[in-house]
Amino acid sequence: MIHELTVFIAAESGMADRLLRAHVADRLGRCRGCPNGRAGHMPWPCSLHAAAIDALARQARATGMQP
Ligand SMILES: [Zn+2]
Repeated sequence: MIHELTVFIAAESGMADRLLRAHVADRLGRCRGCPNGRAGHMPWPCSLHAAAIDALARQARATGMQP
């Protein structure tokens, strides 16, 4: 599932950058970008942040550059 998410993010130009800007830690170490569910914010780094990092690495490999 994480892999599929990474592929999806990597396919959208600019999405990884947007996710990395949105999914940042607040002063309590929780993600600002994730929805505030019953359990509260996700601890940061959340899975979307990790997927965005992976997507950037995937894009770098696709363009022939090493991450
Ligand atoms: Zn998040």
